[in-house]
Amino acid sequence: MNLTFSEDELRFRDDVRKVFDEEFPADLREFRDAGVTISRDDQIRYQKWLHERGWFAINWPVEYGGTGWTPVQKYLFMQELARINAPDIVPFGVSMVGPVIYTFGSDEQKERFLPDILASNVWWCQGYSEPGSGSDLASLKTRADLDGDHYVVNGTKTWTTLAQFADWIFCLVRTSSDVARRQEGISFLLIDMQTPGVTVKPIITIEGEHEVNEVHFEDVRVPAANLVGEEGEGWTYGKVLLQHERTNIAAVHYSKFRIDRLRAQAERPVRGAAPLTEDRNFMRKLAAVEVELRALEFTELRTLAAVASGKAPGPESSILKFVGTEIQQAIDELYVEAAGYYALPFVPEQYAPDFAVDERIGEGNETASAPRYFNFRKASIYGGSNEIQKNIVSKHVLGL
Ligand SMILES: Cc1cc2nc3c(=O)[nH]c(=O)nc-3n(C[C@H](O)[C@H](O)[C@H](O)COP(=O)(O)OP(=O)(O)OC[C@H]3O[C@@H](n4cnc5c(N)ncnc54)[C@H](O)[C@@H]3O)c2cc1C
Repeated sequence: MNLTFSEDELRFRDDVRKVFDEEFPADLREFRDAGVTISRDDQIRYQKWLHERGWFAINWPVEYGGTGWTPVQKYLFMQELARINAPDIVPFGVSMVGPVIYTFGSDEQKERFLPDILASNVWWCQGYSEPGSGSDLASLKTRADLDGDHYVVNGTKTWTTLAQFADWIFCLVRTSSDVARRQEGISFLLIDMQTPGVTVKPIITIEGEHEVNEVHFEDVRVPAANLVGEEGEGWTYGKVLLQHERTNIAAVHYSKFRIDRLRAQAERPVRGAAPLTEDRNFMRKLAAVEVELRALEFTELRTLAAVASGKAPGPESSILKFVGTEIQQAIDELYVEAAGYYALPFVPEQYAPDFAVDERIGEGNETASAPRYFNFRKASIYGGSNEIQKNIVSKHVLGL
């Protein structure tokens, strides 16, 4: 296997790096460095900045406004994005519902929804999970009953990330109960959050953030034209989307950035104490995570190559998901360990309204490590829990 980049590829990387270094909005980078949650407006400004350069929909086909990049170019781009510690792209539009619409949607749906996803004019959220239907998603109970040219939707979605910001939600809903298998009779529906009968209720997570919600639907009338593909085939479409979601959750490039930053911090003596590099036990743990991450990077490259040749990411997306999130959580633990007492003082804004942003940054950004640690307990749960991913790997990869 040739592991060197060609001259063209290196030129591409240098061009991207130059733009990031010279033009990327400095305030967005500072927020991220400080571990401060960025606002809806700033998130949209960031995504529009990428879109203006044609760099937003890196996995989309060119005909719908994608980059047409090779797997290597995508890989190099993600490396550069991580190198400047750019915020995450909110995945629900561009990485999730977008590919479902351009793959299974009607021409009208493509025309109506794809340009606004590309330009981040519309914020999407994902309505799959329900109380009692997470891992066992096929047991979902939200109903959509056809009434003339509308579906009438009733039910509750939960853990809906950033629904408080969303203009639209894509949902898996039950359109028929008269089925042989529970996976049948489920449909994929696009719902305007402004429709009467939609209510969003916040769920505050352990570190004090408002990131997830319950979304209630009470006799919500949704035009039948918002059904994607065939009625009753939503499970098939939803599965394609989940594979894309899992591939993204691995965030290998970002874990590399965080490891490099931790290593750099470990080399500095802090407040008169010996640098952490002299703590052999800490350095052993750091090296073990680095080795795992390197191995995962090659799995990611293989998946990228499969996607580039037109295939949907297969069960290897489950490997990426569970190993990638185990690594993220191992890195979070190392950050907390490195920060020691200084991991604690971060207080979320809603509990400490007088705190200035600067006071929360703290020396060496350690103060963001505990909230990140608590927040990222989620990573082994969302996108399908890690236990479920291991079940998929044992069945489809190991053949057990
Ligand atoms: C922060 C966060 C954000 C989320 N965002 C969204 C979102 O935007 N949209 C959305 O639709 N969903 C979202 N989710 C929901 C997420 O997908 C579910 O939480 C997840 O699928 C697990 O489902 P559950 O919570 O019902 O847990 P359960 O399915 O009840 O699982 C509980 C435990 O049992 C284990 N378990 C269950 N079944 C098996 C089995 N067969 N074999 C082995 N172990 C098993 C699980 O691994 C888990 O540890 C989010 C979740 C979190 C935590």
